[in-house]
Amino acid sequence: VASAPLLQVDAITMIFGGIVAIDNLSLDVKQGQILALMGPNGAGKTTTFHVIAGVHKPTLGCILFQGQDITALRPDARCRAGVARTFQITQPFEQLSVAENIMVGARPYHSSMAELRKASEAYAHKVGLGDKLNTLAKGLSTGQRKRLELARAMATRPKLLLMDEVTGGVDMKSIPGLIDLVKTLRADGLTIVLIEHNMRVINELADEAVFMNRGARMVSGTPHEVATNPAVVELYLGES
Ligand code: ATP
Repeated sequence: VASAPLLQVDAITMIFGGIVAIDNLSLDVKQGQILALMGPNGAGKTTTFHVIAGVHKPTLGCILFQGQDITALRPDARCRAGVARTFQITQPFEQLSVAENIMVGARPYHSSMAELRKASEAYAHKVGLGDKLNTLAKGLSTGQRKRLELARAMATRPKLLLMDEVTGGVDMKSIPGLIDLVKTLRADGLTIVLIEHNMRVINELADEAVFMNRGARMVSGTPHEVATNPAVVELYLGES
Protein backbone atom coordinates (compact mmCIF):
# COMPACT_ATOMS: atom_id res chain seq x y z
CA VAL A 1 0.00 0.00 0.00
CA ALA A 2 1.78 3.13 -1.23
CA SER A 3 0.22 5.52 1.28
CA ALA A 4 0.54 3.23 4.35
CA PRO A 5 2.82 4.43 7.15
CA LEU A 6 6.26 2.78 7.16
CA LEU A 7 5.56 1.38 10.64
CA GLN A 8 2.22 0.66 12.25
CA VAL A 9 2.05 -0.49 15.84
CA ASP A 10 -1.50 -1.76 15.93
CA ALA A 11 -3.20 -2.10 19.32
CA ILE A 12 -0.27 -3.77 21.09
CA THR A 13 -0.67 -5.17 24.59
CA MET A 14 2.29 -6.80 26.32
CA ILE A 15 1.74 -8.63 29.58
CA PHE A 16 4.59 -10.19 31.60
CA GLY A 17 3.18 -12.44 34.33
CA GLY A 18 0.64 -10.09 35.88
CA ILE A 19 2.36 -6.87 34.75
CA VAL A 20 0.83 -4.92 31.89
CA ALA A 21 3.91 -3.30 30.31
CA ILE A 22 2.05 -2.04 27.21
CA ASP A 23 -1.65 -1.39 27.25
CA ASN A 24 -3.34 -1.23 23.84
CA LEU A 25 -0.78 1.07 22.22
CA SER A 26 -1.05 2.15 18.59
CA LEU A 27 1.52 4.24 16.69
CA ASP A 28 1.83 5.25 13.04
CA VAL A 29 5.26 6.31 11.82
CA LYS A 30 5.37 7.82 8.36
CA GLN A 31 8.26 7.52 5.93
CA GLY A 32 10.90 10.15 6.75
CA GLN A 33 9.35 11.08 10.09
CA ILE A 34 11.08 11.34 13.47
CA LEU A 35 8.80 10.28 16.30
CA ALA A 36 9.86 10.67 19.94
CA LEU A 37 8.61 8.33 22.66
CA MET A 38 8.54 10.07 26.02
CA GLY A 39 7.37 9.14 29.49
CA PRO A 40 8.51 8.35 33.02
CA ASN A 41 10.51 5.27 34.03
CA GLY A 42 8.46 2.12 33.57
CA ALA A 43 6.09 3.76 31.07
CA GLY A 44 6.76 1.00 28.54
CA LYS A 45 9.08 2.72 26.05
CA THR A 46 11.81 0.07 26.00
CA THR A 47 9.25 -2.73 25.88
CA THR A 48 7.70 -1.00 22.84
CA PHE A 49 11.11 -1.09 21.11
CA HIS A 50 11.49 -4.78 22.02
CA VAL A 51 8.10 -5.55 20.48
CA ILE A 52 8.89 -3.58 17.29
CA ALA A 53 12.32 -5.22 16.97
CA GLY A 54 10.93 -8.70 17.61
CA VAL A 55 12.53 -9.47 20.99
CA HIS A 56 9.06 -10.01 22.48
CA LYS A 57 5.98 -11.27 20.71
CA PRO A 58 3.11 -9.09 21.92
CA THR A 59 0.29 -10.63 23.94
CA LEU A 60 -2.20 -8.87 21.67
CA GLY A 61 -1.97 -6.72 18.55
CA CYS A 62 0.36 -6.65 15.57
CA ILE A 63 3.27 -4.80 13.96
CA LEU A 64 3.05 -3.81 10.31
CA PHE A 65 6.14 -2.70 8.40
CA GLN A 66 5.71 -1.38 4.87
CA GLY A 67 2.15 -2.70 5.07
CA GLN A 68 3.30 -6.27 5.86
CA ASP A 69 2.50 -8.02 9.13
CA ILE A 70 5.91 -8.77 10.69
CA THR A 71 4.61 -9.82 14.12
CA ALA A 72 5.72 -13.44 13.60
CA LEU A 73 9.23 -12.56 12.30
CA ARG A 74 12.29 -13.07 14.46
CA PRO A 75 14.63 -10.12 15.22
CA ASP A 76 17.17 -11.10 12.52
CA ALA A 77 14.44 -11.31 9.87
CA ARG A 78 13.12 -7.89 10.93
CA CYS A 79 16.64 -6.50 10.63
CA ARG A 80 16.88 -7.84 7.07
CA ALA A 81 13.47 -6.31 6.36
CA GLY A 82 14.93 -2.91 7.36
CA VAL A 83 14.40 -2.43 11.11
CA ALA A 84 17.54 -1.53 13.10
CA ARG A 85 18.04 -0.34 16.65
CA THR A 86 20.60 1.19 18.95
CA PHE A 87 20.77 0.60 22.69
CA GLN A 88 20.76 2.96 25.66
CA ILE A 89 23.78 1.14 27.03
CA THR A 90 26.03 0.69 24.01
CA GLN A 91 27.27 -2.84 23.38
CA PRO A 92 30.22 -2.77 20.97
CA PHE A 93 32.80 -5.54 20.85
CA GLU A 94 35.20 -3.85 23.26
CA GLN A 95 38.34 -5.55 21.95
CA LEU A 96 37.58 -4.81 18.30
CA SER A 97 38.46 -1.58 16.54
CA VAL A 98 35.89 0.95 15.30
CA ALA A 99 36.27 -0.32 11.71
CA GLU A 100 35.97 -3.97 12.78
CA ASN A 101 32.84 -3.29 14.83
CA ILE A 102 31.16 -1.70 11.84
CA MET A 103 32.29 -4.57 9.60
CA VAL A 104 30.24 -6.94 11.77
CA GLY A 105 27.08 -5.01 10.87
CA ALA A 106 28.01 -4.53 7.21
CA ARG A 107 29.19 -8.10 6.55
CA PRO A 108 26.02 -9.60 5.02
CA TYR A 109 25.97 -6.88 2.34
CA HIS A 110 29.48 -7.32 0.90
CA SER A 111 31.10 -10.31 -0.78
CA SER A 112 34.76 -9.23 -0.72
CA MET A 113 36.83 -8.25 2.28
CA ALA A 114 38.13 -5.13 0.51
CA GLU A 115 34.62 -3.95 -0.26
CA LEU A 116 33.50 -4.68 3.29
CA ARG A 117 36.35 -2.66 4.75
CA LYS A 118 35.76 0.23 2.39
CA ALA A 119 32.03 0.37 3.15
CA SER A 120 32.67 0.15 6.90
CA GLU A 121 35.16 3.00 6.75
CA ALA A 122 32.60 5.08 4.88
CA TYR A 123 30.09 4.52 7.70
CA ALA A 124 32.75 5.52 10.24
CA HIS A 125 33.33 8.77 8.33
CA LYS A 126 29.57 9.34 8.09
CA VAL A 127 29.23 9.28 11.89
CA GLY A 128 32.35 11.37 12.55
CA LEU A 129 34.70 8.53 13.55
CA GLY A 130 36.83 8.66 10.41
CA ASP A 131 39.93 9.42 12.47
CA LYS A 132 39.28 6.54 14.91
CA LEU A 133 39.18 3.59 12.51
CA ASN A 134 41.81 1.62 14.40
CA THR A 135 40.85 2.70 17.93
CA LEU A 136 39.51 -0.14 20.07
CA ALA A 137 35.88 0.36 21.11
CA LYS A 138 36.88 0.24 24.78
CA GLY A 139 38.94 3.42 24.23
CA LEU A 140 36.00 5.54 23.03
CA SER A 141 34.11 8.22 25.00
CA THR A 142 30.37 7.78 25.59
CA GLY A 143 29.50 10.13 22.72
CA GLN A 144 31.87 8.27 20.39
CA ARG A 145 30.35 4.94 21.45
CA LYS A 146 26.91 6.31 20.53
CA ARG A 147 28.30 7.27 17.12
CA LEU A 148 29.78 3.80 16.67
CA GLU A 149 26.43 2.27 17.59
CA LEU A 150 24.76 4.44 14.93
CA ALA A 151 27.34 3.36 12.33
CA ARG A 152 26.81 -0.32 13.15
CA ALA A 153 23.06 0.11 12.83
CA MET A 154 23.37 2.05 9.56
CA ALA A 155 25.62 -0.67 8.16
CA THR A 156 22.61 -3.01 8.18
CA ARG A 157 20.97 -0.58 5.71
CA PRO A 158 17.80 0.08 7.69
CA LYS A 159 14.70 1.94 6.57
CA LEU A 160 13.63 2.41 10.19
CA LEU A 161 15.96 3.08 13.11
CA LEU A 162 14.90 2.70 16.74
CA MET A 163 17.23 4.88 18.82
CA ASP A 164 17.25 4.37 22.58
CA GLU A 165 18.51 7.53 24.32
CA VAL A 166 21.17 8.49 21.84
CA THR A 167 22.17 11.46 24.02
CA GLY A 168 21.79 9.65 27.38
CA GLY A 169 24.95 9.84 29.49
CA VAL A 170 26.70 11.99 26.86
CA ASP A 171 28.40 15.17 28.10
CA MET A 172 26.58 18.41 27.26
CA LYS A 173 29.13 19.68 24.77
CA SER A 174 28.83 16.53 22.62
CA ILE A 175 25.04 16.68 22.32
CA PRO A 176 24.75 19.28 19.49
CA GLY A 177 27.05 17.15 17.32
CA LEU A 178 24.89 14.08 17.89
CA ILE A 179 21.76 16.07 17.04
CA ASP A 180 23.39 17.19 13.78
CA LEU A 181 24.34 13.60 12.98
CA VAL A 182 20.75 12.39 13.45
CA LYS A 183 19.62 15.24 11.17
CA THR A 184 21.97 14.06 8.41
CA LEU A 185 20.63 10.49 8.76
CA ARG A 186 17.11 11.82 8.36
CA ALA A 187 18.17 13.86 5.34
CA ASP A 188 19.42 10.60 3.79
CA GLY A 189 15.86 9.24 4.01
CA LEU A 190 15.93 7.33 7.30
CA THR A 191 12.76 7.08 9.40
CA ILE A 192 13.45 7.24 13.14
CA VAL A 193 11.74 6.47 16.45
CA LEU A 194 13.59 7.93 19.45
CA ILE A 195 13.30 7.19 23.13
CA GLU A 196 14.49 10.44 24.63
CA HIS A 197 14.30 12.37 27.89
CA ASN A 198 16.19 15.51 26.87
CA MET A 199 13.53 18.02 25.80
CA ARG A 200 16.01 20.08 23.82
CA VAL A 201 16.90 17.05 21.72
CA ILE A 202 13.22 16.22 21.21
CA ASN A 203 12.43 19.81 20.18
CA GLU A 204 15.24 19.87 17.64
CA LEU A 205 14.57 16.48 16.11
CA ALA A 206 11.05 15.19 16.53
CA ASP A 207 8.14 15.91 14.20
CA GLU A 208 5.79 14.27 16.68
CA ALA A 209 6.03 13.21 20.32
CA VAL A 210 4.04 10.50 22.07
CA PHE A 211 4.03 10.65 25.86
CA MET A 212 3.46 7.23 27.41
CA ASN A 213 2.36 6.46 30.93
CA ARG A 214 1.58 3.02 32.38
CA GLY A 215 2.00 1.40 28.99
CA ALA A 216 -0.50 3.61 27.18
CA ARG A 217 -0.45 6.79 25.10
CA MET A 218 -1.28 9.62 27.47
CA VAL A 219 -0.67 12.69 25.28
CA SER A 220 0.65 13.24 21.77
CA GLY A 221 1.28 16.11 19.39
CA THR A 222 4.18 18.38 18.52
CA PRO A 223 7.03 18.32 21.08
CA HIS A 224 5.89 21.74 22.30
CA GLU A 225 2.28 20.61 22.70
CA VAL A 226 3.35 17.58 24.71
CA ALA A 227 5.87 19.42 26.89
CA THR A 228 3.32 22.10 27.82
CA ASN A 229 0.40 19.72 28.37
CA PRO A 230 -0.82 20.17 31.97
CA ALA A 231 -1.07 16.40 32.64
CA VAL A 232 2.52 15.91 31.46
CA VAL A 233 3.79 18.87 33.49
CA GLU A 234 2.00 17.57 36.57
CA LEU A 235 3.41 14.07 36.13
CA TYR A 236 6.97 15.37 35.87
CA LEU A 237 6.54 17.81 38.76
CA GLY A 238 5.04 14.99 40.82
CA GLU A 239 8.13 12.88 40.16
CA SER A 240 10.67 15.41 41.37
P1 ATP B 1 12.78 3.33 31.44
O1 ATP B 1 12.71 4.77 31.05
O2 ATP B 1 13.07 3.13 32.89
O3 ATP B 1 13.65 2.49 30.56
P2 ATP B 1 10.45 2.29 30.07
O4 ATP B 1 9.43 3.31 29.73
O5 ATP B 1 11.37 1.87 29.00
O6 ATP B 1 11.25 2.77 31.34
P3 ATP B 1 9.87 -0.49 30.28
O7 ATP B 1 11.28 -0.88 30.54
O8 ATP B 1 9.32 -0.77 28.94
O9 ATP B 1 9.65 1.04 30.63
O10 ATP B 1 8.98 -1.22 31.39
C1 ATP B 1 7.56 -1.16 31.44
C2 ATP B 1 7.04 -2.07 32.55
O11 ATP B 1 7.17 -3.44 32.16
C3 ATP B 1 7.77 -1.93 33.87
O12 ATP B 1 6.84 -2.07 34.91
C4 ATP B 1 8.74 -3.10 33.83
O13 ATP B 1 9.06 -3.50 35.15
C5 ATP B 1 7.93 -4.16 33.11
N1 ATP B 1 8.75 -5.14 32.36
C6 ATP B 1 9.51 -4.87 31.28
N2 ATP B 1 10.12 -5.98 30.82
C7 ATP B 1 9.72 -7.00 31.64
C8 ATP B 1 9.99 -8.42 31.70
N3 ATP B 1 10.80 -9.00 30.80
N4 ATP B 1 9.42 -9.12 32.68
C9 ATP B 1 8.59 -8.54 33.59
N5 ATP B 1 8.29 -7.22 33.58
C10 ATP B 1 8.84 -6.45 32.63
